[in-house]
Amino acid sequence: MSRSMLRRALMGATLCTAAFCAAAALPASAQQAYPSRTITVVVPFAAGGPTDTVTRLVAEAMSRDLGQTVVIENVGGAGGTLGAARVAQAKPDGYSLLMHHIGMGTAPTLYRRLAYDPVGGFETIGLVTEVPMTIIARKDIPAGNLRELAALVRKETTALNYANAGIGAASHLCGLLLQKAIDAPMTTVPYRGTGPAMTDLIAGTVDLMCDQTTNTTEQIRAGAVKAFAVTTPQRLPSLPDVPTTAEGGLPGMEVTIWHGLYAPKGTPEEIRKRLSRALQVALRDPALIQRFADLGTAPVARPRHRAGGAGAGHARGASRLLAG
Ligand code: ASP
Repeated sequence: MSRSMLRRALMGATLCTAAFCAAAALPASAQQAYPSRTITVVVPFAAGGPTDTVTRLVAEAMSRDLGQTVVIENVGGAGGTLGAARVAQAKPDGYSLLMHHIGMGTAPTLYRRLAYDPVGGFETIGLVTEVPMTIIARKDIPAGNLRELAALVRKETTALNYANAGIGAASHLCGLLLQKAIDAPMTTVPYRGTGPAMTDLIAGTVDLMCDQTTNTTEQIRAGAVKAFAVTTPQRLPSLPDVPTTAEGGLPGMEVTIWHGLYAPKGTPEEIRKRLSRALQVALRDPALIQRFADLGTAPVARPRHRAGGAGAGHARGASRLLAG
């Protein structure tokens, strides 16, 4: 090695301080504080439905805390399993998230083969909300209350159809519970989400639907669809004129569904903690709480004092739901 080469090498070495050299050894992604770019949340149902609505409200509030844009990607189909698979297979870097619901728990029992493991394939960021369901129908259906609707279904059986978001979706399961409760079958009409299903119900091309209040409240209030019951033990302040299922003669039929936010398995703990913090900030946002209330639901923020990981509230909500 010549003298000048040696001098250049030594100068290079002195420029490489301990901190600089350590940073240079890290992968590019770890050198920037998270999040340094847009985050995508996959909604496993079509745009305009209740999961989409909840996610857009939460994403907007989270983006304020994270200082980055949070965009929604609707990957509907197969009861939410296509969107869930997309996120399970995504890079676990905090930039691909999933907002899902009860379908996370029901899919393994309803699908012979899933492209993901609902338990082992995700990290839970947190429970988001629990939402009641409503039994609604096209506005010209010839029934004035739930008892008359039940009688109509028994008379028409499979001539009547109910719209839903595919096998394992909340709307599908609620429809099955309704059929069991009134002991008569209907024809199922699956969509990629209950957003487009609602459009068809309003147009009168399908007869019935059982869906979250986050999709139905405004349409019920506007008179675009006919409401027969809320699936809660008490009436809802947001829909005070709509009777409960028990009032309508179906006392056992109580359903609420949860939404939860997930990241792919292997997402680093630091990132999970950052996302969890942003989610909790979002769930305490007064504007979000008010909007959720208008739509018949409430955020499920983690109590500040409670110990436990990001999934503690989710596990509690999920087990309560699955037990009920
Ligand atoms: N409400 C739908 C369901 O769970 C999903 C959606 O479209 O958000 O059936």
